[in-house]
Amino acid sequence: MNQVPKTQSQAQPHAPAIRPAGRSYVSGSPVQGDPTGSFHAINPTHGQPTGIVYSAATPQAVDRACTQAWAAFYAIQDRTAEDRALFLEAIAEQILALGDSLIETAIAETGLQPQRLIPERERVVTSLRVLAKTVREGSWVRASLDKADPARKPAPRPDLRRMLRPLGPIAVFGASNFPLAYSAMGTDAASALAAGCPVVVKGHPSHPGAGELVAQAVTTAVGVCGFHPGTYSYLQAGGVRETAIGRELVTHPCIRGVGFTGSFAGGTALADLARTREDPIPVFAEMGSINPVFVLPHAMDEAGKAIAEKLYNSVTSSVGQMCTKPGLIFAVRGDGYVEFEHTLIEMANKGIGHTMLSRKIQGNFAKRLSEIAAIEGVEIRGGSLQTAKLAENMPTEGPVSAVPALLKTKFETFAKHPTLRDECFGPSVILVVCEKSSQLFEAATMIRGSLTGSIMTGPLDGALAKQLHTALEMRVGRIIYNGVPTGVEVAHSMVHGGPFPASNQPQTTAVGPMAMERWCRPVCYQNAPDPLLPIELRNANPLGIARLVDGEWTNKPLGT
Ligand code: NAP
Repeated sequence: MNQVPKTQSQAQPHAPAIRPAGRSYVSGSPVQGDPTGSFHAINPTHGQPTGIVYSAATPQAVDRACTQAWAAFYAIQDRTAEDRALFLEAIAEQILALGDSLIETAIAETGLQPQRLIPERERVVTSLRVLAKTVREGSWVRASLDKADPARKPAPRPDLRRMLRPLGPIAVFGASNFPLAYSAMGTDAASALAAGCPVVVKGHPSHPGAGELVAQAVTTAVGVCGFHPGTYSYLQAGGVRETAIGRELVTHPCIRGVGFTGSFAGGTALADLARTREDPIPVFAEMGSINPVFVLPHAMDEAGKAIAEKLYNSVTSSVGQMCTKPGLIFAVRGDGYVEFEHTLIEMANKGIGHTMLSRKIQGNFAKRLSEIAAIEGVEIRGGSLQTAKLAENMPTEGPVSAVPALLKTKFETFAKHPTLRDECFGPSVILVVCEKSSQLFEAATMIRGSLTGSIMTGPLDGALAKQLHTALEMRVGRIIYNGVPTGVEVAHSMVHGGPFPASNQPQTTAVGPMAMERWCRPVCYQNAPDPLLPIELRNANPLGIARLVDGEWTNKPLGT
């Protein structure tokens, strides 16, 4: 097993090893699951089972997690924003207190390196702390007060007050490629708790041990902070119950919203299921993304080689298993182009096989790569077709790995084949060669909704950059200048979302405090007695938050 380097972020580097026990956590207690639903995590570096046997949650456990979450929802409404902020900070502390055990377990289950997993844990902790700060500050609820005017003619105006209120219990599905940041206490779970919603997590079968350890840490924080035990549950899911648990959650009457991060197929299946409920509920699905990069002519001439290096490293970081991996590079043939392409080819040819997350991800990558490579006019320019060839005869044992591939095509071929606009999840990228600058703009108008779009621009590329900027605003959540899309900051201004299929709810973000708003809806109170109002809307404004009073922002009490 990889040694975990020591870093300052580890609160208790010498903590005794804490190991998973193969259990779910339901409303404050560890529970053993259904023995017929037992499963193992697979260590992808050798393809063999790792760790202990896990047992999937029973239908009774799923029901108990949801009904207890419902009870907890009412209990949370009696807790102050300060209580919630302290709870989020306590979760961060408890996760850090897991020390090396968490990182070692995640390494064994995912094949990801400590250099990747330690910053990922840091991101979880930062996210919890940023959310705590936002909850404590309070103005995120967008409180608005319109005073009554009994003298208004022809009819008196009522007193109206509005703010965001939590939806209720939220079911969370994480992805396999982020065992910490999109998992048991990833961005969906953390933002839902911050908004005042209990959470039931459906564990990902590819990292059950890491999920269980985090669930144990969160359960401890629930107890330490005196929250209702139903505030958080974590359900092991795998074996014969792998997808059943997800369906049971999405259709459970106590669940009022769903957060999903994962594949396009999974996200759309669960959103469809939620829509067919007697009372349809919102599903926030963050799905695959193509992340186009546009290399403008002067940028290419000035720094083609450096841009190629930066892009290739981004494509292959975490073996291409990032939702922000650049999947398409559009470049105009010009003076700097030859060196640009040569650098990409050279780097791809040096690429060797690296461990992928799971046999399923490897299989999907191989299948998709072979589909792309089979299109007339698409050629492999660097790396290897070795992975695509796997699709013909997928291995069932041994290391789970893939070699990077650089594919190349012309703009005309790209325009003719819409399938080239869909994600290929793994270490590959398609270089699309444009003969004129106007094709860059045309390409930007063709791409499908994406998390990001990058513009590599030089000082003389201004007019073209402006055109692309306008086209990308319609299609991506984050426009990046002279940078790569991998690496997502946790900050108020971050948008991690985008038009379909990057997400099915383009009006919001999965990362940053704005993510809390997904788990809320606006409620208006008309002529409500002051003591019955949420504290944020009361006359005295005891929290001192910024409120919109008769259309003007102020933090003063009403009537002063
Ligand atoms: P996945 O296979 O869709 O799994 C995600 C979760 O959804 C798992 O818990 C899975 O459970 C469940 N699921 C999938 N299909 C289901 C169905 N039909 N019914 C019930 N449950 C279902 O995704 P993944 O392979 O873990 O992740 C890779 C994908 O995630 C990539 O496309 C990547 O781009 C995307 N991703 C997006 C973001 C983002 O922020 N936009 C971030 C990370 C990853 P089972 O395994 O138990 O079926």
